[in-house]
Amino acid sequence: MMPWVVARPLSQHGLAASRLGNHLANAGAAAAAAAVTTGTHGSCQFISMRIRHRGFATMKAALYHQFRGPIAVEEVIKPKAPPGGVVVEVRANGVCRSDWHGWCGHDGDIQSLPHVPGHELAGVITEIGPGVHKFSVGDRVVSPFILSCGTCAECSVLHQPTVCSKQQQPGFHLWGSFAEFVALPRADLNLMHLPADVDFESAASLGCRFTTAFRAVVTRGNVKKGSTVAVLGCGGVGLSAIAIAKALGARVVAADVNLKARDAATALGADVVLDAGLDDADLREALRESTKGGADVSVEAAGAASSVVNSVYALRRGGRMVQVALPLGRHAGPPVPMALAAAWELELVGSHGAEAADLPKVLGMVREGRLRPGDLVVEKVCLSAACNHLMAMDAEKESAGGMRVINDFQH
Ligand SMILES: [Zn+2]
Ligand SMILES: [Zn+2]
Repeated sequence: MMPWVVARPLSQHGLAASRLGNHLANAGAAAAAAAVTTGTHGSCQFISMRIRHRGFATMKAALYHQFRGPIAVEEVIKPKAPPGGVVVEVRANGVCRSDWHGWCGHDGDIQSLPHVPGHELAGVITEIGPGVHKFSVGDRVVSPFILSCGTCAECSVLHQPTVCSKQQQPGFHLWGSFAEFVALPRADLNLMHLPADVDFESAASLGCRFTTAFRAVVTRGNVKKGSTVAVLGCGGVGLSAIAIAKALGARVVAADVNLKARDAATALGADVVLDAGLDDADLREALRESTKGGADVSVEAAGAASSVVNSVYALRRGGRMVQVALPLGRHAGPPVPMALAAAWELELVGSHGAEAADLPKVLGMVREGRLRPGDLVVEKVCLSAACNHLMAMDAEKESAGGMRVINDFQH
């Protein structure tokens, strides 16, 4: 049965249409499945799409048509598996501050609209594209949010797939997992089987905040038993960093402006928890005192300019600061005290996501009972509630005190 055809070629709609065209091509619908109209809303071009289901499977997904515009659940065409990739039926998906940054327009990887956010997913494979060998339909999987290519210089020479120059990220470069289904390319290289004894809600954090924190603390931070670690910012990554540092036997000093977040840090075993709402001089003194002269490692997980600077001042001589949050928007360009970095031979290192090889290490700690990512889940919500939570992150001091996970994609 032939579906009916768009009024204008998609290419006339520029970038936004090219994203839509890619999605339609992935959906096997070419340019023929949807009615596409364009218009303007304020200064932004938008596309509205009406789908007639003539033989094309559809799904529910949360979309926004302009940055900072409404995010709402709509019916869109279900994706098809790309070559080397799979389609995953999303069973659980974390609501992450990175999605909020994307929605605000802070993330240059989102090149076109409309857009589906979401990158912290676990689910079941429903379709396999040509060239996939490690996975089958019905496999439970978790995906890191960085889908590396395996062939660029960063992947194949540096062996640092977290900075892959051709990386693809669901929810940023690609439509993401605030949806019933998501198409993920490069499956063999990046996806991991999820054992039956790890539930989807716990696993959702493994693709982003938990493995991101693992890389920041273990791989980049080199935290060991007995290390003193300062974690500034107790959102998803910060709380995960606390749990991981404690599991390694470190002493942890945590700080956050939000009481719920501080309570969550205490519950996860942080040895000292400070109010980051103190003025900077007082907070630095409190950090110095509670780390007994300075931390071996500080982890900046708040993404606020003042927090970046305080993370440097929190170190002992010769200490290492790991920047894992993204200071974006008005927090870009924090005044880092580089004279102190020189005088004290501080190491300031970046940490970006996690590589696929980190996932089995984290999963091993989960199965041994040393890490319990499920403890971070404070609320399970439906897709439309998640849209509201994402838009409400605008209040910078908002905190769930843990992780919100979508586990109902029908509403
Ligand atoms: Zn995330
Ligand atoms: Zn690469």
